[in-house]
Amino acid sequence: MRRILVLGAGFAGLWSAVAAARRLDELGVGPGEVEVLVVNRTPSHSIRVRNYEVELDATLVPLADVLDSIGVKHVIAEVTDINVVERKVVCTIDCASQILAYDRLVFALGSRLARPSIPGLEAHAFNVDTFEAGSRLNDHIGSLPSLPASTGQYIVLVVGGGLTGIEVATEMFGKLRTAIAKATPCGLRATPRVILADHQAWIGSDMGHARPVIAEALESLGVETRPGVSVASIDAEGATLATGERIPAATVVWCAGMQADPLTARFPVARDRLGRLPVNAHLKIKGMPAEFAAGDAGWLRIDGTHASVMSCQHARPMGRFAGYNVVSDLLGAPMLPLQIDWYVTCLDLGPWGAVYTEGWDRHVAATGEQAKRTKEIINRQRIYPPLSRNRREILDAAAPVVQAPPYQLH
Ligand SMILES: Cc1cc2nc3c(=O)[nH]c(=O)nc-3n(C[C@H](O)[C@H](O)[C@H](O)COP(=O)(O)OP(=O)(O)OC[C@H]3O[C@@H](n4cnc5c(N)ncnc54)[C@H](O)[C@@H]3O)c2cc1C
Repeated sequence: MRRILVLGAGFAGLWSAVAAARRLDELGVGPGEVEVLVVNRTPSHSIRVRNYEVELDATLVPLADVLDSIGVKHVIAEVTDINVVERKVVCTIDCASQILAYDRLVFALGSRLARPSIPGLEAHAFNVDTFEAGSRLNDHIGSLPSLPASTGQYIVLVVGGGLTGIEVATEMFGKLRTAIAKATPCGLRATPRVILADHQAWIGSDMGHARPVIAEALESLGVETRPGVSVASIDAEGATLATGERIPAATVVWCAGMQADPLTARFPVARDRLGRLPVNAHLKIKGMPAEFAAGDAGWLRIDGTHASVMSCQHARPMGRFAGYNVVSDLLGAPMLPLQIDWYVTCLDLGPWGAVYTEGWDRHVAATGEQAKRTKEIINRQRIYPPLSRNRREILDAAAPVVQAPPYQLH
């Protein structure tokens, strides 16, 4: 029996696996002939884009709920090494090392938060990169009232004024006020502060025409902004800037940048500045005979001109096409190129609403409540796999098609 190994079960890996099962079904190839095996470090597919939210329970989808009914196997393991010459992957399963051979590989281990070597960052900064990290941040905010009183007790410093940092900051007042209200049901309540810092001259510097909308939302919510600053060190009581200025804060949240998974270095190809593997329009790693990559770990010129963006917007279709093509490649059937001619952004701005932009220069198409409704549809419906455990419904959802932009749907 031949094996297609899918590494990772995020937006790219999960959809690669489902799309591979769909293509096998379409070609009439049974599970006795080709096995699709997914390796992921956790038993769930994480709706990672929601990790800044207050309530995270619904963001985990058990892999078994999606994969069991379509005949895709999965193992919970840590991938530790890849040998592309021997077509073998080394994993740690229950503390034991195991080798998995493959005929075709889809590399979809995604990305992780970039962590520069700033003193104290590893030990003291929170983040929202994973479900576990987002939960830890929320637990910490809930426990702030039990800390000894200090100047920074209810001050949150968010470092990184990109999309993730803005979403963390705009959601933070609600979390802080809930924690304070629980600890102080009546009487004088502490006043929280949220500070959003970035080394760039602007908050949301990549957000083009949406920048004034973001500025308006931050101001109306009371988020203080500190563009043009650089954090030199972090400790339990706050951060020190490169200028020596001290920002007291019991909570520092690091949101500054993402890097592709370091195992991308195992492929003998030149990676881009984010550590991503170059793939062709079929999602095959350029120059590799049997290896595909999708999601944050790979990149292609998605519309023929612009490089794909580390986003679930691109990871999901990259996964669907990688899964279709990896089966086609193995069985000598025709492959399909991926091309997406639209690009949008929908940025949550907490109780203020959201901003929805269209195009690579980010023209504002909707703001406030209207954009928030679109954001909620994206975060809570559009990017979820079917939860019905219905084989046909799950396979159909992985068809190799490019969906219409979310805003046009309602
Ligand atoms: C807070 C936040 C908000 C975001 N908001 C948006 C947004 O609004 N819109 C948007 O398009 N994008 C957004 N993103 C980006 C988006 O989440 C990523 O681009 C997307 O998750 C990439 O999908 P992926 O499958 O490539 O990687 P991931 O989702 O990171 O999945 C990788 C998978 O591989 C597993 N894995 C990794 N290493 C190993 C290993 N060594 N062994 C075993 N398993 C491993 C992980 O557990 C995970 O399941 C946001 C990200 C964050 C953190």
